[in-house]
Amino acid sequence: MPPDHQPRLDLAALHADTQLVHGGTTRSSFGEMSEALFLTQGFAYDTMEAAEARFDGSDPGFIYSRFSNPTVAMFEQRMAMLEGAEAARATASGMAAVTAALMGQVRAGDHVVAAKALFGSCRYVVEDLLPRFGVESTLVDGTDLAQWRAAARPNTKTFLLESPTNPTLEIIDVEAVADIAHRAGATLVVDNVLATPMHQKPLRLGADCVVYSATKHIDGQGRCLGGVILGSASFINDNIHNLLRQTGPALSPFNAWVLLKGLETLGLRVERQARTAARLADALARLPGISRVLYPGRPDHPQHALAQRQMASGGTMIAFEVEGGKAGAFAFGNRLRLVRISNNLGDAKSIVTHPATTTHQRLTLEARSELGITPGLLRLSVGLEHAEDLISDFTQAARG
Ligand SMILES: *Cc1c(COP(=O)(O)O)cnc(C)c1O
Repeated sequence: MPPDHQPRLDLAALHADTQLVHGGTTRSSFGEMSEALFLTQGFAYDTMEAAEARFDGSDPGFIYSRFSNPTVAMFEQRMAMLEGAEAARATASGMAAVTAALMGQVRAGDHVVAAKALFGSCRYVVEDLLPRFGVESTLVDGTDLAQWRAAARPNTKTFLLESPTNPTLEIIDVEAVADIAHRAGATLVVDNVLATPMHQKPLRLGADCVVYSATKHIDGQGRCLGGVILGSASFINDNIHNLLRQTGPALSPFNAWVLLKGLETLGLRVERQARTAARLADALARLPGISRVLYPGRPDHPQHALAQRQMASGGTMIAFEVEGGKAGAFAFGNRLRLVRISNNLGDAKSIVTHPATTTHQRLTLEARSELGITPGLLRLSVGLEHAEDLISDFTQAARG
């Protein structure tokens, strides 16, 4: 091995599954196999001159864990390799990533366009937070390209979208929206949480920035919060680098270590979850009392063709409508024995959520119905349980 214990291959040219296990690994002088957890705030310098060189940038080593940390850097480099991005910055949560990706690009007098169907807290940042600092925003129906075109103004700095959307799993045409953004002189940020880095590559589709809540599939085992922002080196340096260093939403090295180990199994987990989701979606569609199943991998999904073009699978999430409105959905959810009621997603454990009364409770009734979040809608995050056990659980719940 070379003295730095680095692999002798160009990992960037290899497959995602290989990158997930080896990408970004740097080893200490012990040559440890498993990624080391550098639970340290600071770094010691041999001399005053060495400290000076770190601070003036002539020696690129670590300074302070709010800026960077070896374990966090491994996570960032593994994510950058997987995403095909030049640069990545980790954050303490997905919301820290989304907030920094937007705030880093705008100043008072600028304008932002976003799809209406956004994760609740993302919608808060766009609708409530940015305007407080003089940044106006327009929300559009993300599936209607004419609305994106019409919303762009000379001062529009960036577009934000999520696809598939949460919770109704609509598909937005990332390539087309990126093109509209670029013609308008704006950038496109894609929140790629629901698709996962395994099944959708927004940078290849023309996006300028991709953000993840690593809390979801990247951890995948319900343990810790984390986020990551990915883009070109210039996008990250110009917009994100200083904002994160100076304002401090840093990922803890411990969480970075958990997420690194999560990445090792991401490919396996997401592939299995998506395969189970496809089977389960078909089974749900045949059950009594379920009036509609929304799964991007099913031919009856309104944007099935676009989903097939843009995503490598139908994904790990299903939405479905239970007859009888809120009472019907509550009774159905309460009858599930294996699937847990929670508001998270991407976990090894399957999770059912009633969006209207939990994740999307903050929205007005009108805003909810505009998004298709009906009282009978349930969202399902498919876990790693055996497909037949999940199908049995839903079947007994549907029979009442
Ligand atoms: C969970 C989630 C977020 C926020 O991530 P946190 O890690 O909870 O801060 C943002 N966007 C989407 C689509 C999410 O599912």
